[in-house]
Amino acid sequence: MADIAIIGMGPRGLTVLERLVALSCAQPDEALPRLHIHVIDPFPPGAGRVWRTDQSPSLLMNTTAAEQTVFADDSCGVPNPNQGPSMAEWSSDPRSPGSYFPSRVEYGRYLRDSYQRIASRAEGSQATRIIEHQARVTDIAEPGGTDSQQVLRLSDGSRLAVDFTVLCVGHIEARLTDERRSYAELSREPGVEYLPPWLPAETPVNRLKPGEPVIFRGFGLNYFDLQDLLTTGRGGRFTQNPDGTLKYHPSGLEPVLVPSSRRGVPYRCKPITQAHPLSEWQLRYFIPENIRNLAQAQAAEGQKLSFNDHLWPLILADIRSAWYRTLYRVRPEAFSADPVHMHDALTHFVTEHIGVRAGRTEKGGRAAGTSPAGLLTQASPNWVAVEQRVLADPGFALDLHRLLRPMEGVEFAEPDSDLREWMLKFLRRDLAAAQAGPSGSPGKAVFAALWAARNLLKTVVVDGLLDPLSFTSEVRGWFEGFVSGICDGPPPQRFAELIALTEARLVDFVGPGVQIKTVGGPGRGHFVATSPAVDRPIRATALVDASTPANNVRFADDELMNSLLDRGQVRPAVVTSPAGVDMPLTGLDVDGPSYRTVTADGTVHPRRFAFSIQLSAVQLGLAIAANPNARAQSLIDANTIAQAIIDDLT
Ligand SMILES: Cc1cc2nc3c(=O)[nH]c(=O)nc-3n(C[C@H](O)[C@H](O)[C@H](O)COP(=O)(O)OP(=O)(O)OC[C@H]3O[C@@H](n4cnc5c(N)ncnc54)[C@H](O)[C@@H]3O)c2cc1C
Repeated sequence: MADIAIIGMGPRGLTVLERLVALSCAQPDEALPRLHIHVIDPFPPGAGRVWRTDQSPSLLMNTTAAEQTVFADDSCGVPNPNQGPSMAEWSSDPRSPGSYFPSRVEYGRYLRDSYQRIASRAEGSQATRIIEHQARVTDIAEPGGTDSQQVLRLSDGSRLAVDFTVLCVGHIEARLTDERRSYAELSREPGVEYLPPWLPAETPVNRLKPGEPVIFRGFGLNYFDLQDLLTTGRGGRFTQNPDGTLKYHPSGLEPVLVPSSRRGVPYRCKPITQAHPLSEWQLRYFIPENIRNLAQAQAAEGQKLSFNDHLWPLILADIRSAWYRTLYRVRPEAFSADPVHMHDALTHFVTEHIGVRAGRTEKGGRAAGTSPAGLLTQASPNWVAVEQRVLADPGFALDLHRLLRPMEGVEFAEPDSDLREWMLKFLRRDLAAAQAGPSGSPGKAVFAALWAARNLLKTVVVDGLLDPLSFTSEVRGWFEGFVSGICDGPPPQRFAELIALTEARLVDFVGPGVQIKTVGGPGRGHFVATSPAVDRPIRATALVDASTPANNVRFADDELMNSLLDRGQVRPAVVTSPAGVDMPLTGLDVDGPSYRTVTADGTVHPRRFAFSIQLSAVQLGLAIAANPNARAQSLIDANTIAQAIIDDLT
């Protein structure tokens, strides 16, 4: 008999369980000792905390029903695939799965059903037994060192000795930054509220008073969840106008919502697609073959790929291609010459880029259209010349900067009305683009190209082709945030609701480059939000940090993670710069593809694995569900961990 503990039973823990059961059931009877798999989570196994089924049914997923699966399929290339349905196969909703955003509760139910399916399979087999523990693990003792049993202490006071542990703890709390501590400090004054970053479903919104302004620090997904909880969640309702827009009927219990962010605008909303978003755009330049060519050339010189130098030019070519192909389809009058020139130019740039970078060019020197840093930038002169030649008006040109920061440089003479009108126009336009979808809107075609590129980039990272320093400073440094602004917004429904709430004067805006300051003083403590572009400070006695806690193990405020770090049982990953300086990363230090954790003295723990969000030092896009039929990396990883445990036991 062997005891395995999966600590944390959200979606990732569930996939490790699925693989352990699938692989062990496929073993010949005598080959493997019976597995006792302890699934430990204070929340119901499968759904876990984020996807608990008792949360408000009006909280929506930010991905469509087509984008989730628990079960590895043929695309993953793992043994014993197809043990259960994807969410789309499971769902009885008559809509096309790519076209709607299910509720969190619905995904939670799918996860719970998947758990039951896996548990029944385990029950019917001789190979495994699942034992549930509804508790938190608070620390792990190793009385006999890393080669002996690990003794887990649970929040219910029990102790559990196991042979293997898999950490799947996902979203954990983080310590407050100095700035946030100053907000928390102010909230000690009577009448002042500060709600720090946390899961929206568990944020104590009942502390926010009707009719009073509430400043939100953040204008992303958490804001939209909170917007829902504070409007329809307080008895208001939306009805549809004859033209399809929404009208809000207040209950009178809503506060006045003041979302704010550095860019001043929310993440752009998701487009409506009929099929899976990944099928919406076929990449032409950022493709495995081109990446392989570049990687091989780098490897020949003992180096790895740099994102900025090698990969971004390919992605940029795809983004441009997406924009202009779609523009040509929807607005042919935008072109004064045949757009085939653009296609030729992009193909030429990319061929030269690969030729030069892969050292196979006759010309030598720098690739056409690249800056000294190797970046094929928006302003690269040759490309601008192509655009000038082909476009009827420069206003049709793709301006990535404007796409991401549309408010930059805008002046608001009348702070009140101008800003509101500008925002309404922005929101209506983006909503219309979302409804047109990637095939009907150039901006949403860029979404589809970036979505596909980020997905492929995940594989490049996992395959170890990217230089770790470039991953940290370039991918994490700017690309991730750039993609998020364009790709990671809410479902379009939330933009329609925001428009209606703005029209009902229940939402106000601050402007770009927001700064939030505290003003103290007995009985008059409050927060002030200002923007350098808008001459109108907004004051409120309530501030909500509309974000999830930083995904950084060094800032964790979590009993288990902190005890593991304090005792040196795990350590944060670092990357060393060319100057020999160690830069700490956000995730845990892990070894090899099975993600065994590394202790403070550099020893690889043979029987402890990390999975989930704490792998952020070596992986990209961890906070997203496994996609069906898309060679989902997290399912392959779950299989690798399960296989490593089984190999150890056979
Ligand atoms: C609010 C929110 C909305 C999201 N929406 C989407 C979306 O629409 N689409 C999408 O693809 N992704 C979404 N995500 C991303 C999300 O990260 C993944 O979908 C997924 O939940 C990650 O799974 P996980 O198992 O790694 O982590 P989690 O879902 O966080 O699960 C971890 C589990 O570990 C448990 N745990 C933690 N510590 C311990 C301990 N010490 N002992 C025992 N148990 C412990 C927790 O209770 C929890 O149940 C969202 C994330 C959040 C926070």
